[in-house]
Amino acid sequence: MTEGPIELPADTLGAVSGQPSMIDPFGRHVSYLRVSVTDRCDFRCVYCMAEDMTFLPKRDVLTLEELDRLCSAFVEKGVRKLRLTGGEPLVRRNIIWLIRQLSRHLNTGALEELTLTTNGSQLGRYASELMDCGVKRINVSLDTCDAKKFHEITRWGDLDKVMGGIDTALDAGLKVKINMVALKDVNEHEIETMMKWCHGKGMDLTLIETMPLGEIDGDRTDQYLPLSQVRARLLDTWTLEDIPYKTGGPARYVEVKETGGRLGFITPLTHNFCESCNRVRLTCTGTLYMCLGQDDAADLRAPLRASEGNELLSSAIDEAITRKPKGHDFIIDRDHKGPAVTRHMSVTGG
Ligand code: SAM
Ligand code: SF4
Repeated sequence: MTEGPIELPADTLGAVSGQPSMIDPFGRHVSYLRVSVTDRCDFRCVYCMAEDMTFLPKRDVLTLEELDRLCSAFVEKGVRKLRLTGGEPLVRRNIIWLIRQLSRHLNTGALEELTLTTNGSQLGRYASELMDCGVKRINVSLDTCDAKKFHEITRWGDLDKVMGGIDTALDAGLKVKINMVALKDVNEHEIETMMKWCHGKGMDLTLIETMPLGEIDGDRTDQYLPLSQVRARLLDTWTLEDIPYKTGGPARYVEVKETGGRLGFITPLTHNFCESCNRVRLTCTGTLYMCLGQDDAADLRAPLRASEGNELLSSAIDEAITRKPKGHDFIIDRDHKGPAVTRHMSVTGG
């Protein structure tokens, strides 16, 4: 890696002319906020959580009104894309209230996209309300279509409920992208089946490398599957054509000629994407992480609660952005089995 700020063309940095923007020391415009609205979840995926998790004390968690105020402050400062995640965002009580509140920024044009990442378990109940709030596309995390394996991976999940939720979402008119964490020996032989299933339903599929975040019960070296290997293997059967398609996140896409569908690769380990990072992440306690893979953070809860105006909050955000690091240092191999950071993905939000 080279040292110092990286020069990139303005359009890859997320700048929108005439709009306010936050710029980090490496010239990257921070235009994308991911918010973990709760660290709690109705699943216990093996790569994400230990089965016996200790969650944040409820008294430390921001109210929905406070989350609205915080997110809105970011929108005022130039955030154009907001993704709610978790834990499982749809298990937070009254979450639709927050989504509806935030949708006012879509109506004014300040926000380009309001979206969420979900495990799909509550979509049957909420899909049409999401659509009604201006959510147009969602990411659903699904690592397998095999009920037994689904239970092994999620520990507590019910595949039928998730499949039903996905169909309800599609019927409601939401665009659905499936995110699949590629796990060695667990679901690696299902990638093609998943791809055909997704493309048959008009859904993109994105594959993700497992990242070393938080202590889990197993050994991550056993789970880690480099996507460079997967891509090489797919090329034996499928024609993959690189395409410039972008959704604002870190995935690089190919079009699969035979299916006509899109396949994305999120490769934090085999191909670091930090140079074009436009994101920061907020936890449900108001801690801002400037990088998923680093421990440095800024407390926004204190300035949020210190006054009714947003001056203190705005200065705290500006100061935090000056500390956005160049990138993460994820490694998974026999010498690096432990997590790169101690917090779980469910705290910072995926
Ligand atoms: N509960 C929701 C879900 O599963 O979609 C949202 C939160 S979850 C933490 C967001 C995404 O992070 C999911 O796609 C999940 O598969 C992924 N994820 C969790 N832990 C991960 C890890 N250690 N490495 C890579 N991806 C991970
Ligand atoms: Fe829950 Fe999502 Fe983590 Fe699975 S990946 S345990 S669904 S937060």
